[in-house]
Amino acid sequence: MADVIVIGGGFHGMSSALHLARRGLKVTLLEAQYCGRHASGVNAGGVRTSGRDIAEIPLALASREMWHRLPELVGDDCGFVPSGQLKVSETEAEFEVLRERVRLLQSLGFTHEELVDARQVRALVPAIAPHVTGAIWVRDDGHALPFRAVTAFRLAAERAGAVVHEETPVERIAHRAGRWHVQCAGGRSFSATHLVNAAGAWAGEFAAQAGDPVPVETGGLMLMITHRAPPFVNPVLGATGRALSFKQFANGTVLIGGGLRCPASLAQRHGEVDMPKLAASARTVTDLFPHLQPLGINRAWAGVEAFMPDNIPVIGPSRASPNLVHAFGFSAHGFELGPIGGRIVADLITEGRTTLPIAAFAVDRFSRHSPRREESGLLQPQEKELQ
Ligand SMILES: Cc1cc2nc3c(=O)[nH]c(=O)nc-3n(C[C@H](O)[C@H](O)[C@H](O)COP(=O)(O)OP(=O)(O)OC[C@H]3O[C@@H](n4cnc5c(N)ncnc54)[C@H](O)[C@@H]3O)c2cc1C
Repeated sequence: MADVIVIGGGFHGMSSALHLARRGLKVTLLEAQYCGRHASGVNAGGVRTSGRDIAEIPLALASREMWHRLPELVGDDCGFVPSGQLKVSETEAEFEVLRERVRLLQSLGFTHEELVDARQVRALVPAIAPHVTGAIWVRDDGHALPFRAVTAFRLAAERAGAVVHEETPVERIAHRAGRWHVQCAGGRSFSATHLVNAAGAWAGEFAAQAGDPVPVETGGLMLMITHRAPPFVNPVLGATGRALSFKQFANGTVLIGGGLRCPASLAQRHGEVDMPKLAASARTVTDLFPHLQPLGINRAWAGVEAFMPDNIPVIGPSRASPNLVHAFGFSAHGFELGPIGGRIVADLITEGRTTLPIAAFAVDRFSRHSPRREESGLLQPQEKELQ
């Protein structure tokens, strides 16, 4: 009989299963389709601590440390390349925005984002267009392979004893007589002492069933990948004034994204690619690297993501039901947080607390009366779109 049921075989569900199983708990993970089918397996692979909401920074830095040690943790590097991430400014005004951001972080004791001038940007990326005025450089960030990462965590979780059931969509959850009872399609049911809600864009339904209604929204996010080009950029590159993030893989292809939103349907479990929007994004890339104009697009796709109104996730215990931990709503930047997210869930279940600061991610923050986060200056609106 399981100690913990995890709903969702994305990166956060899988990482939770791994950390819990390593602490000796019997874990059953239930996945509606196949593990890594949604956001966690189809994202841009950006391992980015930069541009984050202040509340997320301690988690992102702790997670990045784990990214650098993945072979020790899961026996696979998950395709992680510590290439650095560079967020460029294209005007003097944008450079000022970056300067302010770095100043704010330094005043709070964070030094991971460094301001670099146009000359330093050109030293890092010689092919960049001459109008670029500077950048924020984060040397220890990078990129990884999303599906490989989910799979590596899955295999490690299974080696530690976790049992994964795919094609097992959960329909109802209920807490009765000290246990969670989970009813799935086809009449299957499971029970355990603890429950983890890591169902991504679908997690709102389970939060509501547990008595923790939250305003989680579903959105599609698009990516496209080009034909091969000779090597021209090593860091992951983002822009300040427009939605853009891209990277070149060792095989020469260029992955282009950056928070490009599109329609998505929870019922159909599908995001719909918006071609005109993708074309605009491709133009941004060729503005920065004019030599890429003749390059063709190989394929484009959309993933389904859970967005919270304040663009930071829900991570923490239920306020309404016992022995339930939520981890969802990663708002387009949850891949990087995967390794630490599972550790936090395991801390909460096995110790009832975690050493990482998670108060800002409480599930009831939207129903409590509290000062708006924007008023406290914690949100950086221009960064909400970045992955
Ligand atoms: C195109 C795209 C690009 C992105 N790029 C980046 C990036 O570069 N860097 C970054 O940090 N983040 C990025 N993200 C965001 C990141 O991918 C997500 O925040 C993260 O993967 C969320 O993980 P998750 O485990 O919470 O959700 P998911 O990966 O969505 O996993 C949830 C799982 O729950 C399952 N599920 C749903 N309902 C049920 C049910 N009823 N029963 C059982 N299982 C169920 C789903 O099938 C799914 O597998 C991107 C996202 C997208 C879509």
